[in-house]
Amino acid sequence: MAIYSVNQQEIAERISPESTSLSQWKDWKWQLKHAIQSIDTFEKLLGIRLEATEREQVGRTLETFPLSITPYYLSLIDADDFRNDPVFLQAFPSPKELEVGRHEMADPLAEDEDSPVPGVTHRYPDRVLLHISNVCSMYCRHCTRKRKVGDQDFIPERETILQGIEYIRQTPVVRDVLLSGGDPLMLSDDYLDWILTELRSIPHVQVIRIGTRMPVVLPYRITDALVAMLKKHHPLWVNTHFNHPREITASSREALSMLANAGIPLGNQSVLLAGVNDCPRIMKSLVHKLVENRVRPYYLYQCDLSEGLSHFRTPIGMGVEIMESLRGHTSGFAVPTFVVDAPGGGGKIPLNPNYLLSLSTNKVVLRNYEGVITTYQEPDSYKPIYCDRKCDDCHLQLKLDDGQEFRSTGIERLLSNHDDSIALTPEGNERMVRRDE
Ligand SMILES: *Cc1c(COP(=O)(O)O)cnc(C)c1O
Repeated sequence: MAIYSVNQQEIAERISPESTSLSQWKDWKWQLKHAIQSIDTFEKLLGIRLEATEREQVGRTLETFPLSITPYYLSLIDADDFRNDPVFLQAFPSPKELEVGRHEMADPLAEDEDSPVPGVTHRYPDRVLLHISNVCSMYCRHCTRKRKVGDQDFIPERETILQGIEYIRQTPVVRDVLLSGGDPLMLSDDYLDWILTELRSIPHVQVIRIGTRMPVVLPYRITDALVAMLKKHHPLWVNTHFNHPREITASSREALSMLANAGIPLGNQSVLLAGVNDCPRIMKSLVHKLVENRVRPYYLYQCDLSEGLSHFRTPIGMGVEIMESLRGHTSGFAVPTFVVDAPGGGGKIPLNPNYLLSLSTNKVVLRNYEGVITTYQEPDSYKPIYCDRKCDDCHLQLKLDDGQEFRSTGIERLLSNHDDSIALTPEGNERMVRRDE
C-alpha cells in the first residue's frame, strides 16, 4: 500500500531503498538533506533520461545558476509530460538561462543601491526588506535575485543581522519589516524567534511580514513548533509564492491551514511566467484555490528584467488580460494587484485595464467588466476642502497624536494644497539646465 502518493512513494524508495516511512518523508530536515542538486539524481528520481547534448547544456547552466529541489516538490512533476510541467519548468535549469538579453540586468530593482547596511533594502518610506537568509530549499529558475543564488550559500551571523535590526531601531519611520531572503524559514525556529523578538522590542515596528515559499516547495517546514513560535510575535503576516494550481496539494493545504489557524493573515505573490501560468483560466483556478485555503492573492508580478529570465517573460498585455478576466468575474478578494517592479529601482507600479473612459465637469463615463458603458453623475454641490494639513483645526476628525506630521511626495504632492509645487521635472532636464546657465 502506498504511504503517500504513488509518485512520492517511488521517489522516497529511490532516495533510500531500505527505509521509507511517511514520518521521514514529512520531516523537513530529511527533505532538505535529500534536496536534489545534480542532473543525475534528478533524472534518476524522476525516472527520465535527457539526451547527451541537453545534459551537457544544462550542466553548463548549473555552473552559473545552481540546482536545488526538494523531493516533495519533485514529486509534483508529471514524469510522463515533464517538458510542459509547471513544476519542472520552475525547478529544472534551462540552457536559456545563459542567454542574457540586451535589456537585462543583474540587479534590476537596484536593491543593492537602496541598501543602507548589509541585508537591508530601504526603498519605500515606511517599510524595509530585511534579508535574513541567502538560502532556499528550492531554487526557483525564475528567481529575481538569481545573481545571489549559490554564491554565498549561507545564513548570516547574528552580528550581521543585528546591524540590520539596529538600522531599523534607529529609523523611526519604519513601521513594517519584511523578512526576506532567500527563504527566512530556512532558519531554525530558535534563530527566527530571536530575530522576531528583537524586532518586536522596537516600539515603532507595527507589523512584521515573512516572505516564504515553504508552503509551496516544502510544506513540512510548517510544524506545530514553528507555528507556536510565530504566534508569539503578532501582528505577523506571511506572504507565500504559489504560481500554479497544481502546487496546491493536500500537504500544502495542511501547511496553510496551520498558519491561518494561528491567526496569521496569508497572502500570495505570483509571478507571471511564460509556459507556466500565462493563461487567464490557470490564474483564475489558482486564485480560487488560494482563497479556498484562506490565502488572499496579493500581487501578480510581471517577470523582472533579471539576467537569465528572458524565456520566462511575457508581454505586459498578458497580465492586463488576466486582470480583465478576474475583476468582476470573480470575488473581489480573489483578485490580486498586477504590478511591474520597474527597473532601476522604480518600485512596484500597478497596472489595470482602463475603466475610466472619459469625463466632463459633472459626469464620468465608465465601463464595467461586461463592456457596459455607464455614467456617474458628480455631486452638484461639493465644497472643496482647502487642505493646509493643519489637522487639529479641521472638521474631519483625524485626532491622532501624529496628525500634524505630514510630508508628501510625487503625484500626491502635486495634488495637495499645502505645497506650492506645480510640476515634477526630471533632474538634468535640458531646458532647466539652460535656464541656470
Ligand atoms: C515589494 C517591496 C516592499 C513591500 O512592498 P508592499 O507593496 O508594501 O508589499 C518593500 N520593499 C521593497 C524593496 C520591495 O521590493
